[in-house]
Amino acid sequence: MSLDMKNNVAQLDALSARLSGAVLLSGDSDYDDVRRVHNGMIDRRPAVIARSQGAADVVDALAFGIEQGLEVAVRGGGHNVAGRAVCEGGLMIDLSLMKGIWVDPANRRVRAQAGVCWAEFNRATQLHGLATTGGAVGTTGIAGLTLGGGFGYLMGKYGYTVDNLVSVELVTVDGEVLTASEQENSELFWGLRGGGGNFGIATSFEYALHPVGPVVHGGLVAFAEEDAAGTLAFLRSLAEESDDDITAVCSMTHAPDGSGRKLAAMLVCHCGGQHRAEPVLDKIRGLAPPVIDRLGPIEYTELNLLLDPGFPKLAMNYWKSCFVADLTDEVVAILNEQFRLCPSTMSKLIVESPHGAALRKKPDATAFPHRSKGFSIMILAQWKDSKETDANIAWARETYERLLPHAQQGGYINYLDEDDIENRTRQVLGANFQRLQALKDRYDPQNILHLNQNIPPSLAN
Ligand SMILES: Cc1cc2nc3c(=O)[nH]c(=O)nc-3n(C[C@H](O)[C@H](O)[C@H](O)COP(=O)(O)OP(=O)(O)OC[C@H]3O[C@@H](n4cnc5c(N)ncnc54)[C@H](O)[C@@H]3O)c2cc1C
Repeated sequence: MSLDMKNNVAQLDALSARLSGAVLLSGDSDYDDVRRVHNGMIDRRPAVIARSQGAADVVDALAFGIEQGLEVAVRGGGHNVAGRAVCEGGLMIDLSLMKGIWVDPANRRVRAQAGVCWAEFNRATQLHGLATTGGAVGTTGIAGLTLGGGFGYLMGKYGYTVDNLVSVELVTVDGEVLTASEQENSELFWGLRGGGGNFGIATSFEYALHPVGPVVHGGLVAFAEEDAAGTLAFLRSLAEESDDDITAVCSMTHAPDGSGRKLAAMLVCHCGGQHRAEPVLDKIRGLAPPVIDRLGPIEYTELNLLLDPGFPKLAMNYWKSCFVADLTDEVVAILNEQFRLCPSTMSKLIVESPHGAALRKKPDATAFPHRSKGFSIMILAQWKDSKETDANIAWARETYERLLPHAQQGGYINYLDEDDIENRTRQVLGANFQRLQALKDRYDPQNILHLNQNIPPSLAN
């Protein structure tokens, strides 16, 4: 589906006249900047980009795309590694100008528009010493992350991002503007908490906030590569103890100084106050002689920016991911062996451990179904030189293949790459898939919104 520009000048002019944001075509000055998403492997050229400033622009842009028979892509923060925010030859509805954030400190609520990124969100809510579970990299969009679940430093204490969602303003493919919450359109609200962008275009999100910071305890600590088993054993013990106040992430990574030295790092957030945090931080420091020790009091906003330099826009990315029930000796040995073979100093193996409040809900409480103990393993291949592409993809695939015999059913929908997004979406949504499909039948039976972790309507089968 593409747009014959010469025959559609009038329609494009009409769209431009209606929209508060700009309509961009190839050759316009911002066109390349907006069409390029985080993953440099994705290089698609939409026929039209509709930059939206609010719900009315989204309604008009979506109606235009449907009328013209264009494939429709929706861009929030553009971090989806499979590049679902951009299409080849169709219409990209770009939400990245929608930056409104309204904090209501008295009621501990915030409403944020769909173009907001986590750094912007944290900056605004931390003015009031408030926060909610959000992404660990500042440039990730709130929209895609929230609609897919949401892992973050506060998940032990306050659950996944979806557990803190209070309401969503949504534009449907029929051009209706709905509110979805526990009180209104409650089944839709259930589906939006994990079912991705399948049911409409979210224009704003309302979240519950909690007193956090401005200073928490944690940061980055890194040990020699040989000490990875110790850090993973510690993560395992944290999962056993299930202390809600601490969320830690292990990363087999490379030194930030560019030396290429392989390290076993941990990122830590303890939000239970100095008295309780310090003994835990001392324990972590004592795991082995640290190569980097940036553990201590740290502003919550700063903690959430620590990883940003390691994820530059337009670096090439290829990810594989799975869940394992336990970090057994075999799993740890595979991670160690594969990390030694890692061909790029930008790549990482990341192990996360949802626990505490994140696991206290039932798997069908939200569309996001992952409520049992276990670990998420992410094989994050990242490189800059296209000559290295084959070697990096091969390494990620080989690591994944070796882990597969130890993997559980399921996985995190927001980590699915281009290869897996088509064939694993159903599997990772597990028992919630059919209920989600019924919502898809109701809200988008023609599958207009299919550039996402797609739930095909059953009516189309
Ligand atoms: C560097 C990096 C760090 C990350 N860190 C974390 C992390 O800490 N925790 C975590 O849980 N995940 C993390 N992720 C994964 C992240 O959740 C996904 O990449 C997510 O898609 C990001 O949302 P986005 O708005 O930036 O993405 P986009 O690529 O813009 O969108 C993702 C998908 O959602 C759809 N979509 C976007 N906005 C809307 C909307 N308003 N309405 C309807 N559909 C929409 C898009 O069409 C697309 O299909 C990270 C990703 C990267 C690249």
